[in-house]
Amino acid sequence: MTDTELLHYITTRDPDEAEALFAEARKVRERYYGNAVYFRGLIEFTNYCKNDCFYCGIRASNKNVGRYRLSVEQILQCCTLGNILGYKTFVLQGGEDPFFTDERIVEIVTAIRREYPNHAITLSIGEKERKSYEMFFEAGANRYLLRHETADNAHYAAMHPASMSLAHRKQCLFTLKEIGYQVGAGFMVGTPFQTPETLLEDLRFLEELKPAMVGIGPFIPAAGTPFGEEAQGSLEQTLRMVALSRILLPKALIPATTALGTISSQGRERGLMAGANVVMPNLSPKAVRKHYSLYDNKICTGDEAAECRLCMEGRIRSFGFIPDMRRGDAAV
Ligand code: SAH
Repeated sequence: MTDTELLHYITTRDPDEAEALFAEARKVRERYYGNAVYFRGLIEFTNYCKNDCFYCGIRASNKNVGRYRLSVEQILQCCTLGNILGYKTFVLQGGEDPFFTDERIVEIVTAIRREYPNHAITLSIGEKERKSYEMFFEAGANRYLLRHETADNAHYAAMHPASMSLAHRKQCLFTLKEIGYQVGAGFMVGTPFQTPETLLEDLRFLEELKPAMVGIGPFIPAAGTPFGEEAQGSLEQTLRMVALSRILLPKALIPATTALGTISSQGRERGLMAGANVVMPNLSPKAVRKHYSLYDNKICTGDEAAECRLCMEGRIRSFGFIPDMRRGDAAV
């Protein structure tokens, strides 16, 4: 697609055009994945973070966050439960928490790998040195989620403190890919200072990186952050960005994100209808859920892991999709 065409779909307000775009995205998704929707068990193991991203509820300087860390035993208990519930992928996500040194991450990955030799282990713990990423990979991690957040330098600078840079984040993504990880990039829709042109850059960056996974969700304001009073991203535009990503990267694994489900009661289902093919129900202990508050009003914070698993299955089936508990690597 040309820049003009992409910009047209990024901005259109015509519901019929959007519906045609979603139909095309579904067709592309069906070619490689049929109607299957893969499940990933998400373990939010720490909400401590040394970074201060302007949009994020668990940023270092947000003093209103009740901070927590899971112990290695607690993380393994999440995996045990996840395995019983049928998950074949564990996603370990957290803030950039200095307590979790490379050695501690290696210990955790090694312990999970020992118990679950055939499961996929996904990390989502931010920007690290190449050596660290290599150690985690050696220990048995297979996938890494690191959204680029925005592919525009000025926009990136408007959302992050000066200590962070888009160049470094992009470098991390290419390094992860070189090491052999299945890599996930992605961005929020509707962040302050975002324009149709920066969204176009996001899509062009995805084409350049060719990640195995693409995470896209609406920006949702988080209390106690610099963007806490800003408007949330639109459901419709987020869905169009999911569809465009599917069309540009036909084989990508694209989650219908929790943020989509937070801004609309059937947001995740509509994500699947716009070309997504993954869901990431929560496996974190119920007691800590509400503290992993990336944004306000996050859904599913009061549910047990088993409830989330069943709830998602029902939602998926009601829209004609087939829950698929296999490991679900990217199609080749
Ligand atoms: N520390 C890890 C994990 C970050 S949290 C890392 O750096 O990758 C996972 C994702 O949540 C982020 O990449 C961001 O895109 C999203 N997120 C953070 N704050 C948000 C907000 N206010 N609204 C919507 N999504 C948000």
